[in-house]
Amino acid sequence: MTELERSIIARVRVEPGENVSLRERDPRDSRLFGEEKGTKSATAALAKEIDALQDRLYAEGSRALLVILQGTDTSGKDGTIRNVFNATGPLGVSVTPFGVPSKAEQAHDYLWRVHAACPRRGTIGIFNRSHYESVLVEKVRNLSSPELIEQRYDQINAFEKHLVENGTTILKFLLHISKDEQKERLQERLNDPRKHWKFNPGDLDDRTHWDEYQDAYDIMLQRCSTPHAPWHVIPADRKWVRNATIATIVKATLEEMDPQYPKAQWKPGAFTIS
Ligand code: ADP
Repeated sequence: MTELERSIIARVRVEPGENVSLRERDPRDSRLFGEEKGTKSATAALAKEIDALQDRLYAEGSRALLVILQGTDTSGKDGTIRNVFNATGPLGVSVTPFGVPSKAEQAHDYLWRVHAACPRRGTIGIFNRSHYESVLVEKVRNLSSPELIEQRYDQINAFEKHLVENGTTILKFLLHISKDEQKERLQERLNDPRKHWKFNPGDLDDRTHWDEYQDAYDIMLQRCSTPHAPWHVIPADRKWVRNATIATIVKATLEEMDPQYPKAQWKPGAFTIS
């Protein structure tokens, strides 16, 4: 890992047990990167490197990478996927959005649908929202009892440890935007007919619970950033900083995993093709 990669990770990673507070993290932080244009081309180059590493992961076929994206409405979860994984071959990547649980999903425990969507060996799985909604929206909206919510932090840590011990590397990214930036992005959705489909009046309702969500994020980060599945708080007011930070961490993580092409089961030179 390069010094730059190390310092980017150190800046955004939440250390286990750290008393993190989102209010103390600047969503506009861009100090780790140079100017916008150069950073955007560097991100495009990283996306290609991620593709090359993903090819090795697929060929090796024994491990998986799970990327979990959380963040409030308009924080850029979709945009991150589009920019960081746009060069990655579709064979080896799956994207799963987690919305309001269906009737069938509600008939099971909250991790049931999540476990079923975890990436198979050799692939990268991206979660657009995740099991963390069960300690976020369900907490803020009182959809589950405080007793149940309290138990979930440990349950989630145990679940993620189980995944890690069975060959899945986990990266968790919280896209951190400011309330002002969200206002601008929601306004854009109202103004631009091509973005009307993205506007959901319910998002305005969630915005009235902004502070409660920030508190719920803090607790989630404090309780669930573990050595085996760390959380990263990504400054997301500037899209190019968000993309560059996440692309850097994904690429560095895949490089550390160092997937290997399997050796041929036959002797090189044993065959001729007529
Ligand atoms: P997004 O806002 O991520 O683009 P949607 O518009 O489909 O996608 O929104 C998903 C909605 O589902 C969010 O409002 C989220 O809070 C909600 N949701 C996800 N998981 C749960 C859950 N476990 N319980 C209740 N609501 C959930």
